[in-house]
Amino acid sequence: MKKVIIIGGGIAGLSAGIFAQKNGFDSIILEKHHTVGGECTGWDRNGYHVDGCIHWLVGTKEGTPMHKLWTKVGALDGVKVYHPETFLSFEHKEGTVHLYRDLERLRESWLALSPEDKAVIEEFYQGIKQLHSFEMPTDKPMDMMTLKEKIKLFSSMKAAGTIMSKYGKISLIQYANTFRHPALRDTLATFVPEGYSASSIFFALASFTKGDASIPYGGSKAMAMRMAMRYQSLGGRIETLSEVTQLESNKKSVSGVICKNGKSFNADYVIAACDAKVLFERLLKGKHPDPKFEKRFNDPINYPLASNIYIALGYEGELKDLQRSTRFAINPIIINNTPIKHLLVNHYQYEKDFAPEGHTVITCAINQYHDDYDAWKALASDPNAYRLEKDRIGREVIGAIEDHYPDMKGKIKLLDFATPITYERYCNAYRGAFMSFLPTIKGKMMAHTGRIKGLDNLYLSGQWLQPPGGLPVAVMTGKDTIMRICKKEKKEFHS
Ligand SMILES: Cc1cc2nc3c(=O)[nH]c(=O)nc-3n(C[C@H](O)[C@H](O)[C@H](O)COP(=O)(O)OP(=O)(O)OC[C@H]3O[C@@H](n4cnc5c(N)ncnc54)[C@H](O)[C@@H]3O)c2cc1C
Repeated sequence: MKKVIIIGGGIAGLSAGIFAQKNGFDSIILEKHHTVGGECTGWDRNGYHVDGCIHWLVGTKEGTPMHKLWTKVGALDGVKVYHPETFLSFEHKEGTVHLYRDLERLRESWLALSPEDKAVIEEFYQGIKQLHSFEMPTDKPMDMMTLKEKIKLFSSMKAAGTIMSKYGKISLIQYANTFRHPALRDTLATFVPEGYSASSIFFALASFTKGDASIPYGGSKAMAMRMAMRYQSLGGRIETLSEVTQLESNKKSVSGVICKNGKSFNADYVIAACDAKVLFERLLKGKHPDPKFEKRFNDPINYPLASNIYIALGYEGELKDLQRSTRFAINPIIINNTPIKHLLVNHYQYEKDFAPEGHTVITCAINQYHDDYDAWKALASDPNAYRLEKDRIGREVIGAIEDHYPDMKGKIKLLDFATPITYERYCNAYRGAFMSFLPTIKGKMMAHTGRIKGLDNLYLSGQWLQPPGGLPVAVMTGKDTIMRICKKEKKEFHS
């Protein structure tokens, strides 16, 4: 049996492991952290469970290709799904804007709020509706398709092409400015991190309004653990606290890996399902540069990376009347010299086991960019100053929520606070990135095969191969890597 070593037990690593086992390989996952899941995780704090990832998961809708893939890796089969009524609700002083699940309702509520925006609202509505036919192709990667399959794929992606050509090269902020009503403008302009192209909102809302992109009950950690169980039930082995620090290679291939804990493993194939920068710089020591990645890493303006501050709060009360994801304006909180003018609050009222009875977990995510990472990195070198800054921001965020919802005053406590440095520490995430390069108007799309020039048995897998990443890309690329290895072995691939 050929041996496969998988570096990293995130969703991509688990997916690669599952398909490796299904296809007759002897695989092992080596994970740096004490648990698997990578960025798809959650943790317990003071009687609460903090979910650290899933806000929307493409593939929760039964019958879709992505749902089938999630089911094959044991992530979603038999799992109940929570379907929020809105993707986001923006409580604006000029009127609340809801991004409803029901697209007709979204359109009507927006028209009622702003009849003067009728033309742009109708166009927005039509664009989203048109994309309902779009499904992420999951069967096989492009480089393995025949010409006939490629032609079929391109014709099935006509709607996506139309949206990309119309909205792919304007920023969401520019697009937001085509709306006259300030509440609609602000809702769109603050929807995704700065620099995103306008097309992103169409894809996200198309997925959501056709009944997909919901949240599996039990959350992110539970989903990762279901995949880990599926992997182990197929005979796969997981070694945690095993950070790979060295690759043993000859001129053409990799023969094994060495971990920080001193353990070493031999392999016929090595899959790096970890951060791309970790592979190219730490493990390959810059000896196998890849032009596509070099171009992106060296151009953070057109290929930005986003991280975040993730604040978990325990609320002594229930939030039955508040939409799951709500944004509102606040008195600016200064973070790394940048005034943060809006707050996004997510709550987990629907998860009874996430909080003591009568209590609710709330999380707030604040996007952080290139310069923020540098500021946090510098601050983290002084643990006391780092802690004080987290405490200050935590207090100000609680104050901002209490100002907006006076009934909550005195009932919110800080549970946990993650910064870009947290993602770096736990997941080796380059500059704390929680996805890969963002789709900007100047950046070019990338679909990388994961092959490393000069080394014929080493593959990169995971969110970095298909920016902007996310869980569907992670699970798909894990599978695709095993498909490529099967092809090399002249074996039929079994899913
Ligand atoms: C707050 C937050 C919210 C998110 N929300 C969503 C969402 O709603 N929907 C969505 O689709 N996506 C979401 N994402 C993004 C999603 O979590 C990631 O895209 C996805 O989990 C990436 O999976 P991966 O396996 O490619 O990489 P990772 O999760 O980064 O896994 C890589 C693994 O490799 C390990 N590793 C690294 N270096 C080594 C080494 N040298 N040796 C051994 N192990 C190593 C790491 O510890 C990690 O476990 C969110 C992320 C965050 C942080």
